[in-house]
Amino acid sequence: MDNKGISFKGNGLMQCNSNFNIMAGEIRKEYSNGEITVIWKPRKCTHAGICVKTLPQVYNPREKPWIKIENASTEELKSQVDQCPSGALSYAMNTP
Ligand code: SF4
Repeated sequence: MDNKGISFKGNGLMQCNSNFNIMAGEIRKEYSNGEITVIWKPRKCTHAGICVKTLPQVYNPREKPWIKIENASTEELKSQVDQCPSGALSYAMNTP
C-alpha cells in the first residue's frame, strides 16, 4: 500500500513524505539504482548516524530524499548497509 504524506514529527523519527510502503504495520522506504535496492525501516532506526558518517554523500537527513543512492557504488552501499547497527537499513539485489 502506498501512503504518501506521512509525517513523523514529534516522535523522534525523521520526517519523510513520499513513497512509503506500509505492510503489516511496518513502514519501509526503498531506494534503487537499478542494481541494488536499499531499504530503510524508520521504526528500527536508532539514529546512531553510522550511515551518515560512512557515506555522507549518500545519507543526509537534512535533505530530501535523505538517501541519494546514486552517489555511491553498489559495493560501497552494500558495505555500508552491513554496518547499520539496528537493522534499519537492508538491501536486496535487483533481478534482471
Ligand atoms: S546507521 Fe542505521 S540505525 Fe544508524 S542512523 Fe543510519 S539507518 Fe539509522
